[in-house]
Amino acid sequence: MHKLKKKINSLQVKCPNEQNGCPALFPLLRSEEHAESCAFGLVVCTNDGCPAQVMRKDIGDHSQSCEYWSEMCHMGCGALLTPANRDQHNCYMELKETYNKQLHKLRQKARRMESLSSQMSRQIQLLSEVLEGTEEAEGVLLKWL
Ligand SMILES: [Zn+2]
Ligand SMILES: [Zn+2]
Ligand SMILES: [Zn+2]
Repeated sequence: MHKLKKKINSLQVKCPNEQNGCPALFPLLRSEEHAESCAFGLVVCTNDGCPAQVMRKDIGDHSQSCEYWSEMCHMGCGALLTPANRDQHNCYMELKETYNKQLHKLRQKARRMESLSSQMSRQIQLLSEVLEGTEEAEGVLLKWL
């Protein structure tokens, strides 16, 4: 009896997914193991509401084109992306990021201008102090006028 069981278990069987194209041949004992990983076994699409049953080897392709595919926008804007809108999803988070970068640049520019103009007004101040303070400067000033 025991021997028979052993014999049965070591019997080479064909994969039940043979009609789907699976060429596997394995001991009966292994059939469960194989069924779980068989590339030709049918699996259900994990996308919510999708009725598709595809072979395990095709599930990757399927979920890329599955019309039930959906995913929250990775930018964190809260939008649910679907195949219908993912290509034209104009993410405002992305816009915001670009806007913030530009704003940052503008602020830097403004700061540079500010320090430049305060440098200039300091120089003008100094110049006028010098000019007011000396007779020589008065002469220069007169020539200019
Ligand atoms: Zn198989
Ligand atoms: Zn699907
Ligand atoms: Zn988004």
